[in-house]
Amino acid sequence: MADWQPVSRNGLRFYHLEPFLGIELWFSTRRGSDNDSDHNMGIGDQLVHFGIRTPPVSMNQTHSNTVGRVERSGEVQADACFTAQANLALSVRVADCVPIFLWDGDNSFVGIVHAGWRGTLTKIALRFTEKVEKEMGIEAHRLNYALGPSIGKCCYKVGKEILDAFKQTWPEAERFFSRNRDGLFLDLRAANRFLLSAAGAVEGKSLDLCTSCERKRFYSYRREPGDGRNWGFIIRTDK
Ligand SMILES: [Zn+2]
Repeated sequence: MADWQPVSRNGLRFYHLEPFLGIELWFSTRRGSDNDSDHNMGIGDQLVHFGIRTPPVSMNQTHSNTVGRVERSGEVQADACFTAQANLALSVRVADCVPIFLWDGDNSFVGIVHAGWRGTLTKIALRFTEKVEKEMGIEAHRLNYALGPSIGKCCYKVGKEILDAFKQTWPEAERFFSRNRDGLFLDLRAANRFLLSAAGAVEGKSLDLCTSCERKRFYSYRREPGDGRNWGFIIRTDK
């Protein structure tokens, strides 16, 4: 199975995954020191260095479970989106939330999801598979997905109110919480894997790194509240 590879272009370092010819995923890194606020907001402009000439689609990301279908560049009012258009990159910006990349083996669409605890609570990953099936006729078992770096269960300490919120609306999710002497921890990655796998989607190669542990590589809002964001992109090309 193809794995994520580090790639440098124009001074920017990304991780890159090409599950097969025609589907490409990127995930940005920070460039060096912890004080380097660098390219976190305008990185979409840098995609030209990766051969992508059209500006990427961005999402307004309000921790909703809204899924949008997109046909062109610009901002969509959603926390997940998908497109059948070739050469149109979809982007997500995260600094602890789980970025999820999705595609299918027939290379007929790509999608991207932003799943923080609220999106996970409202099962945005499942809303995504449902909408793709309804609008594209692609059943969930034909989908592949990969998770990008996010805060891991090692670092995602949460209050009891979050456990209570899950107990109320998704009681089975209690299994994704664990308690140790430092407190209560939530495994957002496992919760989203569960939703997608239960729907039938097949996991490809995820980039299993914790944004909070990996301070040299990624921004983490929990570790350092601020504007720094990691960017993920997915695109299907017609090459
Ligand atoms: Zn960690």
